[in-house]
Amino acid sequence: MIGAIAGDIIGSAYEWHQIKSISFELFSPRSQFTDDTVLTVAVADCILNGKEYAATFREYGRRYPHAGYGGNFRVWLWSDNPKPYNSFGNGSAMRVSPVGFAFSSLDAVLREAERSAAVTHNHPEGIKGAQAVAAAIFLAGQGESKDRIRDYIEKISGYNLRRTLDEIRPSYSFDETCPGSVPESIIAFLESESYEDAVRKAVSLGGDADTMACIAGGIAQAYYGEIPAGIVKRVREILDPPLLAVVDRFERSCQLSAISHQRSDDRGRGGPKADG
Ligand SMILES: [Mg+2]
Repeated sequence: MIGAIAGDIIGSAYEWHQIKSISFELFSPRSQFTDDTVLTVAVADCILNGKEYAATFREYGRRYPHAGYGGNFRVWLWSDNPKPYNSFGNGSAMRVSPVGFAFSSLDAVLREAERSAAVTHNHPEGIKGAQAVAAAIFLAGQGESKDRIRDYIEKISGYNLRRTLDEIRPSYSFDETCPGSVPESIIAFLESESYEDAVRKAVSLGGDADTMACIAGGIAQAYYGEIPAGIVKRVREILDPPLLAVVDRFERSCQLSAISHQRSDDRGRGGPKADG
């Protein structure tokens, strides 16, 4: 999940100063963690500690009230009686990456992605955006090829992932809906050659840069495994320590469960699956 957070921080400097190029400074004094990071960490906390999504999003959102939430989310955050508001904004997709890393079957990933989305983004496109990103992360982590990932995501979402970034970029502009930004973020990953390249390509579309780089960065982390040490170091410096503590615990627990799966595979029989 630190790949998603790094994408948010790198993209944050370009959310309101869009660029159409992959050559830019990864970090600047404007680089900061935003709502994408805060709510991604909240999802990780729910998975780690069996907490409830709506209450936890409100806990984190109120603790970091100026992280850049959308207007409807802010109303929901402070409402006395919060109800899902039928959103299909990309908020459901930007926060979902821990689900793709933690769960051990595609069915479980799709089900949990829906649960994490539905407390606010209960519109079918809001749920679909979260499922597409979480499934891409899960499949990438399973060692599936980009072709397989693209085919599967197209099948469950109906997104057109055959477009190229060069076709999309000239007429693309800020779009914070799931259908208007999730497929483009996935294409940035599909065209990438490394973690850093995926994040640069997502930013280069000149859209909702932090969220698109967060989505592409989460999938790229699962696919490439490695994030340049210099990026991780800067991200750890920028992240608020209480958020970093959850990230570290979450990543450790995913590694441990991967090792236990590996061991049970070595013994030639399925061991218990740590489904959250
Ligand atoms: Mg943001």
